[in-house]
Amino acid sequence: MTPQPQETPPQETRDGFRFRGGRLPLDLPATLAGRVSGNHRDALATPADLDRWLVAAGLADGVAGSSAEDLSAARDLRETLYALALARAEDRPLPNAPREALNALAAQPAAAPWLDASGERRWTGGARALLAGVAREAIELLGGPDAGRIRQCQGPVCAILFLDASRKGDRRWCSMSACGNRAKVAAFRGREKL
Ligand SMILES: [Zn+2]
Repeated sequence: MTPQPQETPPQETRDGFRFRGGRLPLDLPATLAGRVSGNHRDALATPADLDRWLVAAGLADGVAGSSAEDLSAARDLRETLYALALARAEDRPLPNAPREALNALAAQPAAAPWLDASGERRWTGGARALLAGVAREAIELLGGPDAGRIRQCQGPVCAILFLDASRKGDRRWCSMSACGNRAKVAAFRGREKL
């Protein structure tokens, strides 16, 4: 992975995957598109897709060698995270079954972090251990001080979740260049019709 300077925002799209959430537990749910329309498009269709996501997410350097079971675990975690983060975004109590599923995965052995010679953080562990690490990060997020800043994009057909790091806490879109821009164009067209 190429190191990103601190001041440069991470790329929103890496290897075809969307990373607009600001935290990996919010980016994993974005691998299933079409949640609002019901016309699902799964970016994690094969174990090789999961390998690519783990690299794009900065969790793995090479091929993690994901199995069909790992893929199934990743999809389960994805829906678990979506349910819990959406509940946070909508200020509802956390649903029990996803909360227990998250706790069970977080209790499994997680990948170990280590520093390489250039000072970059890397991880040692297979796909399942990397997913357990995402589950632990999710618990810190959902149970930590940033939980109240989890939002869902207000784009009419967008279900992407993100962490609102704006000073005022009034971010509305997963991406200014995507949903934010579409909203601006729609508002402009609306004015044209008047
Ligand atoms: Zn959006």
